[in-house]
Amino acid sequence: MTVTTRFAPSPTGRLHVGNIRTALHNWMLARKQGGRFLLRIDDTDAERSREEHVAAIRDDLTWLGLEPDGEERQSERLEHYERAFEALRAAGRVYRCYETAQELELKRKILLGRGLPPIYDRAALALVEKDHAAKAAAGIAPHWRFRLDHGEPIAWDDGVRGPQKFDPAQLSDPVVRRADGSWLYMLPSAVDDLAMGVTDVLRGEDHVSNTAVQIQMFEALVAAGLGGQVPRFAHEALLVGREGKLSKRLGSLGCDAMRARGIEPQALLALLARLGTSLPVEPIAERDALLAGFDLATFGRAPARFDDGELERINAAIVHQLDYAAVADRLPEGMGAAGWHAIRPNLSHVGEAAEWWRLVTGPVEPPAFAPEDRAFLAEAARLLDWGDDPWRSLAAALKEATGRKGKALFLPLRQALTGMDHGPDMAELLPLIGEDEARRRLESAAAA
Ligand code: GLU
Repeated sequence: MTVTTRFAPSPTGRLHVGNIRTALHNWMLARKQGGRFLLRIDDTDAERSREEHVAAIRDDLTWLGLEPDGEERQSERLEHYERAFEALRAAGRVYRCYETAQELELKRKILLGRGLPPIYDRAALALVEKDHAAKAAAGIAPHWRFRLDHGEPIAWDDGVRGPQKFDPAQLSDPVVRRADGSWLYMLPSAVDDLAMGVTDVLRGEDHVSNTAVQIQMFEALVAAGLGGQVPRFAHEALLVGREGKLSKRLGSLGCDAMRARGIEPQALLALLARLGTSLPVEPIAERDALLAGFDLATFGRAPARFDDGELERINAAIVHQLDYAAVADRLPEGMGAAGWHAIRPNLSHVGEAAEWWRLVTGPVEPPAFAPEDRAFLAEAARLLDWGDDPWRSLAAALKEATGRKGKALFLPLRQALTGMDHGPDMAELLPLIGEDEARRRLESAAAA
């Protein structure tokens, strides 16, 4: 069976580092095995789902280079959920409930107050047809819960966490459908995973207890003839920030914010691919190289720590590797491959290239030089000889003529030619400045 994974965001906001990581790992799990990676838009919550977020999710995945092999939308699949629901109803696996949110909250508080787990007491299972008829007559529609089978423990071998076991009696029967007929996430997700041939569900560990419940749903759906095979499950440890939960600053961790501040998609992927694994985080720009190391067995159980500083370091290291072709459309007018190559090592973000390019296009503002440096620079202007390697021949000629070496030789030249005392390799920069302009800069610094 073709390995099939899915990334299933709810379009209620922008993607952020947490769900980008989940998307990436699902993409890798599929790609590594020549399988399929699907995008499933979980938009059954009509009130919170927004079309603009759907578009942004697609855009972000394209920017990241995680293009799916197919896209599905839950809002277009409602008849499948209806059919599954009818099958579960016929099999006695869903039941009608009427408790209000306040009543449920009260029940929870009472149980918690007695030191008991806040499990739904299944009071509604005791209702008989007469009770339902009375509710209907009063205009009260039911919501529906899935009835867990308490017979056997629920067990699976988790791809990250190893063997897992849950006592179903310790779980609440989950609400699957609201009184207005709309769906909660659990059942549609199981229906879709079966219908789409999803072989591997890889998601955050906040879904572990959902998995326990969903395994019974999968089994009930398979038993009702509604699909093939229960998928494998793997739950990755959550991503946390330096100060704890990520949720507090999700805005700044959004894909859009990352793009705006000049983070390269390769940097984000290199970091997120390995964060929380036993492999070192390295500035690996090639996706195939990242894929080669991907293995769920390297995933740790401890929360993975996301650190902006680390992202910035990876980003700079990635920028230093990027080819001209990859950045050409983001560079200032006139800056060609040689310019990019000269300036690239000085950048943390591609966007800074324009600033550095001004050293080539000028005007530059050299400092005021001492008289002996002015004489030295005048000599430099005279000795400038435009061969294959003008910087090295100039330095050699000046060394010979003046006896200067090291900083005394190089610093006034750099300052006169660029107006700065550090920056790109002068051997690469000088040819870009050009002979006439270089001589003019040296003469004007000598004259000042
Ligand atoms: N839409 C669900 C979520 O955002 C998907 C969870 C899953 O991967 O099954 O949490």
